Amino acid sequence: KLSKRLQTIAGYVPEGARLADIGSDHALLPVYLAERGRVSFAVAGEINAGPLAAADKQVKLAGLGSVVSVRQGDGLAVIGPGEADVVTIAGMGGSLIATILEEGSAKLAGVRKLVLQPNVAEDQVRRWLTAHDWVLEDETIVEEDGKYYEVLSAVRHPEPLHANAELYRPRPLEGCGMLESDELVRFGPYLTLRPNDVFFRKWASEADKLDRIAEGMARGGTEAAAQRRKEFEAERDRIKEVM
Ligand code: SAM
Repeated sequence: KLSKRLQTIAGYVPEGARLADIGSDHALLPVYLAERGRVSFAVAGEINAGPLAAADKQVKLAGLGSVVSVRQGDGLAVIGPGEADVVTIAGMGGSLIATILEEGSAKLAGVRKLVLQPNVAEDQVRRWLTAHDWVLEDETIVEEDGKYYEVLSAVRHPEPLHANAELYRPRPLEGCGMLESDELVRFGPYLTLRPNDVFFRKWASEADKLDRIAEGMARGGTEAAAQRRKEFEAERDRIKEVM
């Protein structure tokens, strides 16, 4: 059975998509979608030989070789221009996801939707999207095995946006007016607008972590540690304010 995390990602892939799943590992996502007839074609891209072999095996086992093409390569290099209209990148850090999008930007010409699930540094993904004329259309946070995962779905902005992130305020987010834009980028505009229990648990646990770090530093006793501790406490207080 597909994990809740991958099911959430699958839920954002439109019916009939031509999908590129980058960093596909066992190709669980494209196989799941292809088995249900929800994608007309998919590329499972992998940079590493081990996961690539696992993807290959999974696709053959499912008898889906004609729908899911398993390819080895770095990021978006595995797709030809116009080959995919939806790209999913999941289960890696936000900065790696941003790098993959940046380096493969020429391949994004025909892509109309990005579904991204950074494990950490979600803010870096949101910043990249904003700076490259993509608009977040929705976000979901899920909890699985004690971990929190944010799934970000973005579509192309109909007109070029100003490159300055500060000027970017999507319309459905008026309810978040009291938040500064860098807080929206951090906490997620939709997640903040419709906060659920998982959202509160994630940020409560982040605040706890910062509490523990600050306590540990207090025991350290040096001046530099005291300074860092102040920074962590300020950070924790900012999280508590938003909550
Ligand atoms: N996407 C799957 C998921 O969410 O369950 C697998 C996530 S797995 C933790 C990350 C995968 O990304 C690894 O298999 C790794 O080999 C692959 N990867 C890392 N950097 C990559 C890159 N630049 N291009 C393609 N794949 C990459």
